[in-house]
Amino acid sequence: MGIVGLHGAVAKVIRIPVGENVPERPLLIDGAFELGSAERFAILNPATGAPLDSVASASPDQIDAAVAAAVRAQRSWWASPQPARSAVLHAVAAEVLQRKEDLADVVTLETGRPYARNLLYVDMFADLFRQYAELARVHGGRIAPSNEAGQLSLVVRVPYGVVASLIPWNYPLLLLAFKVAPALATGNTVVIKPASETTLTTLILAKVFAATTPPGVVNVVAGSGRTVGEQLVRHPATDMVAFTGSTEVGAGIGAICGQMAKPAHLELGGKDPAIVFDDADPNLAAKAVVWAAFLNAGQVCTSTERVYVHHSVYDRFVDRVVELTTQLQVGDPFDPGTQIGPMRNERGRAKVLEQLAAAQASGAKVLAGGVIPEGSAGFYLQPTVVVDVDHDMELMQEETFGPVLPIMAFGGDDEAFALAADTPYGLGASCYTDTPDRVRRAYEELTVGTVWVNDPVVDNLAAPFGGMRASGNVRELGLEGMDAFTSTRHVHWNMRLEDKPWWYGDVE
Ligand code: NAD
Repeated sequence: MGIVGLHGAVAKVIRIPVGENVPERPLLIDGAFELGSAERFAILNPATGAPLDSVASASPDQIDAAVAAAVRAQRSWWASPQPARSAVLHAVAAEVLQRKEDLADVVTLETGRPYARNLLYVDMFADLFRQYAELARVHGGRIAPSNEAGQLSLVVRVPYGVVASLIPWNYPLLLLAFKVAPALATGNTVVIKPASETTLTTLILAKVFAATTPPGVVNVVAGSGRTVGEQLVRHPATDMVAFTGSTEVGAGIGAICGQMAKPAHLELGGKDPAIVFDDADPNLAAKAVVWAAFLNAGQVCTSTERVYVHHSVYDRFVDRVVELTTQLQVGDPFDPGTQIGPMRNERGRAKVLEQLAAAQASGAKVLAGGVIPEGSAGFYLQPTVVVDVDHDMELMQEETFGPVLPIMAFGGDDEAFALAADTPYGLGASCYTDTPDRVRRAYEELTVGTVWVNDPVVDNLAAPFGGMRASGNVRELGLEGMDAFTSTRHVHWNMRLEDKPWWYGDVE
């Protein structure tokens, strides 16, 4: 098991100043930078467990001001010609690329994910803004057939208005862009609240938006979910909530929005299965599954969290998974040799260790990892492979959101699909096979938003992404991800005022 840079100095010089001695952490409200005027909260470095920085939260008045600014700005933003809005989105893309390395540094510090991937995510952020700048140019409504000659039935797409965007910590750039790019492209304005853990990253993005978007179109506030986030959800002037995060928090937000009849777009947790059929090369499938389970230390909503393997290839598959897992380089996310960084926080690691201990108490066997690397600071956990699991274990039912890969054998296809479907979640599923009928069964029988075949956990920005059941209710990305930020309005237009036979008769 490789451990790189865990005890040495950080392998890279950070250009962005961080730490208690850097007091300026302004929010963006109505185009102006403003320090939060409520309590400060600390941000810890996941690789060391030590304080990284602290930020002052937005006060209730500042949140009101951010929403009011978004309301004022929305009318003129929506009224501006589409090419002008698209030009602004292109400017955001160009500006974010100017800050690529600063952003990658800070995302690495705040998430613990290896640096090289964070560079990639800055590029994807820019790509998303460019994609929606261009799609919005051709995104329109339709003309429905009319009741009568001389009429037009226009179905126009209209923005919701002000979108409260609540973002989780695991992909602070991408998941923000999934929402904010299509929301802006279609004429909405936004108030963004990042997860506390990744506030610094988002405050750099605030500078990008301040340099490119008209005042009030994008506002960034910070603070805890329960205070700042919930005020945005309950605010009478936010017209919709776009939330990505845990199922538990999302369900609460959905309940509040339900009472207000406010649209709530919920992208929630997952427990994605993978099925390795007997026609798949077990060595290659093992490589793919190890990637899908341990990317971002297993803290991806679509991480492979349970694997079902045909018994005829089970032994070869498990041996290869263990071999690959024990070779993974766990370490300092700034070290170019590191493949797996720390988990984000102690709470998350404790939950994973609890699930593991309970599974072991019920007979599960750990074949690799399962421990905190010796002498490590921060929130590291060795990538873990578990066998002899059964389906009643929490490890097989609840989201783990950590570097743990439980593996089970199956006998026939019916059993494999039944096990994969035995979950309250419905985000994604992957299968490894060259048999078309198995692919058909996967997309017909699994209640999920995405099915990956032989290439797991890959985003295609042009195609929709999202969950079903406990994993959510909306699609982001693709054309569907733009439709999601518009409502439709019907204009029934009789092109001349003329008498209708069903109107009450004339009064003498
Ligand atoms: P979280 O639910 O704790 O928080 C998400 C966001 O909501 C944060 O900004 C948080 O501050 C805010 N929030 C928390 N409580 C709130 C409340 N009562 N009212 C309003 N806002 C509130 O999630 P997290 O720990 O940041 O992220 C991890 C979770 O996100 C995992 O469950 C993961 O599966 C899920 N996730 C889902 C997707 C997806 O697309 N389906 C993508 C990434 C992460």
